[in-house]
Amino acid sequence: MAGAGVPAAATATAATADGAEGTLLACPDCDLLQRLPPLPLHHAACCARCRAPLCRHKPDSLERTLALALAAAILLLIANVVPMLGLSVAGREAFTTVLGGVVAMWREGSQVVAMLVLFAAVIAPALEIGCLLLVVLAVRQPPAPHWVATLLHGYEFVREWSMIEIMLLGVLVALIKIAELATVIPGLALFVLGSLVFLLAAMAAAFDPRVAWQRIEWAAGGAAGGAEAMR
Ligand SMILES: [Zn+2]
Repeated sequence: MAGAGVPAAATATAATADGAEGTLLACPDCDLLQRLPPLPLHHAACCARCRAPLCRHKPDSLERTLALALAAAILLLIANVVPMLGLSVAGREAFTTVLGGVVAMWREGSQVVAMLVLFAAVIAPALEIGCLLLVVLAVRQPPAPHWVATLLHGYEFVREWSMIEIMLLGVLVALIKIAELATVIPGLALFVLGSLVFLLAAMAAAFDPRVAWQRIEWAAGGAAGGAEAMR
């Protein structure tokens, strides 16, 4: 990032001299308010005072996010329908899905763990993907309704609770322990969930919240964009 980084305030001066518009942005670290120039492709802006990264130009952010979110939604659906694990003992085989594991934990008396797994491995990823899909679809035709802002806040919250990778780590540790007692058969869902971890990371990396925020209708009833809000 440092290689392509440009101090926001420094280049803003040049941009203003050329008559180009820039957006105001506060540094998340030192709160310095600075004007952000239009960024060239694959360039990033950093704070003129503390050099903290401010943002990076992500080309075709909405289209890439939409494609990745659709793929993630399909993978999540498959991961919760097909078996995740199978055990083979004395000629008998038994398979279970993610939701089957949650139900089994609930019946065994581990209700708190069951609820945590259900929320962190199923509900939160589904909300994360659903929120982003709705946001990306809603902001394609600006100005987007202001409820999209609520979804953007919700997306940030559920993203922190989406922990498929933690569940996979737990499953792998359990597999190593069970392997001595029974033959473990990895199910398709295990590989799908592994792919989903990378897909969710790619989806979050492709999404540029600034693009979405710029297209959202203002709460006071104005349209998106500073120029419209000043009328
Ligand atoms: Zn700063």
